Amino acid sequence: MADEIVIRTSDSPAKELRASRAVLAAHSTVFKDLFSMPNTARDAFVEVAETVEELAPFLSILTGTYDEPLELSVDGWVHLARLADKYDAKIARSIVEGQVSRLLKDNEDEALTLILASYIRDADLAKDAAFAFMFANDADCAVIDGFEISADLRRRLARWCTLVSEHAQRFAYNVPEYFPTCGKNTGCSDAAAKAACYEGIFAAMRDTESINHYNPYSYRIEACINRSRLCKAHADQVLKKIRAFEGEYRDEAPPFPA
Ligand SMILES: [Zn+2]
Repeated sequence: MADEIVIRTSDSPAKELRASRAVLAAHSTVFKDLFSMPNTARDAFVEVAETVEELAPFLSILTGTYDEPLELSVDGWVHLARLADKYDAKIARSIVEGQVSRLLKDNEDEALTLILASYIRDADLAKDAAFAFMFANDADCAVIDGFEISADLRRRLARWCTLVSEHAQRFAYNVPEYFPTCGKNTGCSDAAAKAACYEGIFAAMRDTESINHYNPYSYRIEACINRSRLCKAHADQVLKKIRAFEGEYRDEAPPFPA
């Protein structure tokens, strides 16, 4: 078995890329399985469904010949994420996960982040990407910022949103029991804080059609707090506590994709 394999791309005419079988097999379970089959072990080449433009960055990661940090176009990142998944290449997937982390940290391109996240295996990261996307967009939009959200991805997102809504309903029972307030004898009381929270949560939960997945409680509770007799300082503190409660709700939400 020759150590080198020629990869014929789907370009017209086909282009040829050369790589070490051992290196490809070490970083991709799909290549490993392919090369272990009797007929392909003998073949000097394999044909792939990708163009050289799509494939080259992916191969450069497998062979360790790329420049760090990897600079790719938006389309380049999507191709890389897809190929990392298709060829089950952990090393490429970890680079995509790094890019998803960066995009989430910078609050950039929620649609691209979601598309990349749909190919990774880091459940927490994928969930964060889904929440970031839901914070900025509707689940049923087909094109966002020029990115096409495939029908399959929209279906997976819709299924996850249903589970997250159910989780929000259940998690509402964990609403904080104590709030910092001025005391019993003024309008700024624990009872007033609780009343505002319960009213807000019930309002949010009744309106299941338009539930806000990212922050299902605070946007309603804030309106109730503003109408309450809580003093400004304690109104802010109550809302801060509710936002922390919402952070726990997101941490404990079901993984994406469902
Ligand atoms: Zn107060």
